[in-house]
Amino acid sequence: ATIPSRSAEGAAAGPLAPNYHPLPVTLTTGEGAWVRDDAGRTYLDLLAGYSALNFGHRHPALVAAATEQLGRLTLSSRAFDHDLLHPFAEALSELARPVVAGAGADGPQPMVLPMNTGAEAVETAIKAARKWGYDVRGVPPERATIVVAAGNFHGRTTTIVSFSTDPEARDGFAPHTPGFRVVPFGDAEALRDAIDDTTVAVLLEPIQGEQGVVVPADGYWPAVRAICDEAGVLLVADEIQSGLGRTGTTFALELWGVRADLVTLGKALGGGVLPVSAVVGRPDVLGVLTAGTHGSTFGGNPLACAVGIAVVGLLRPGTFQERARTLGAHLHARLATLVDTGLLVGSRGAGLWAGLDVDPARMTGRELCERLLRLGVLAKDTHGSTIRLAPPLVIEADDLDLALDRLTQALR
Ligand code: PLP
Repeated sequence: ATIPSRSAEGAAAGPLAPNYHPLPVTLTTGEGAWVRDDAGRTYLDLLAGYSALNFGHRHPALVAAATEQLGRLTLSSRAFDHDLLHPFAEALSELARPVVAGAGADGPQPMVLPMNTGAEAVETAIKAARKWGYDVRGVPPERATIVVAAGNFHGRTTTIVSFSTDPEARDGFAPHTPGFRVVPFGDAEALRDAIDDTTVAVLLEPIQGEQGVVVPADGYWPAVRAICDEAGVLLVADEIQSGLGRTGTTFALELWGVRADLVTLGKALGGGVLPVSAVVGRPDVLGVLTAGTHGSTFGGNPLACAVGIAVVGLLRPGTFQERARTLGAHLHARLATLVDTGLLVGSRGAGLWAGLDVDPARMTGRELCERLLRLGVLAKDTHGSTIRLAPPLVIEADDLDLALDRLTQALR
């Protein structure tokens, strides 16, 4: 068999594994919503590191926090505590209070378990839910099931791809981890029917990002919460892409006033500086992961905590959320115009986050992104003829308009 090269767009076929098909651009510097390539051309970054760069490239507060910490201590391992570990947990716990079940203003403080990547946070939530199921709910050994949604994206580990419905993500990586049931996203009755005595949790993205920023109907999340309560199973919300300001609220769940038992966070928690993830949730659930049952060499490291504390500090006043709301309203109004004039076949989203569909007969999402690239705008297709726009929340209104003018041009 020949090894496929990705030289079609001129990228060198070297020792790098071919598990990505990037757009033909090589970035060298970035600031705010702008990046520059190796030929000195500038681009507006409307992908923002898949929402890891919610605060833009090299936000001064995040760079300062990282730089200061680099001069003090970078790693202790969890064999020892360090002076930022508990302050990070405190800060993130308070930020997440509005979306953790039972945590109200005076309820028990949400617990925080720090990891590194998003997939690790999801794996951690799965482990916590299963152990809670056996230890607390009394599910018979090795029988735990978790209900998930079709079209999900929760990461790339072997267990997580086991319940992906995307053949590219799943096929070829068997044997798959058992114990997952897939129901249609947005269908609360199907979810209710999938729950039985073996079910420990329901795991969902509030809004399906990789699927094309799919926003469920307003009644869905409150119904899911009610179903989980009736059945006595955990609700796990994967806010790795939707959380931390993107939707105009700190957490997407706030759009519907719903609280989850466990919430996974990642991406923007590291401010685009380094990988930082966490599970935040009910102490009686996360508390089942006692010493020796779970861990990570780098999870909760001093550098990650320094940046994570600074990220929480940026989110606390609500100004980024406000920007996402007002700029987002403008974004969605302009996209609706593109749908009305026939240049797009659909658009949807929340806050500064949109999925848009092009007529597949006119061009693929990839082709649209290549056109945008030539016009100085970076975006990425999700599937087929769908692309996602997730500008950094620091983008200036004029720059957003410039990007949308270029999008209109690219669609013509
Ligand atoms: N969960 C969601 C909702 C995501 O969007 C992603 C990444 O796109 C992940 C989990 C996985 O995160 P990571 O790539 O950091 O493992």
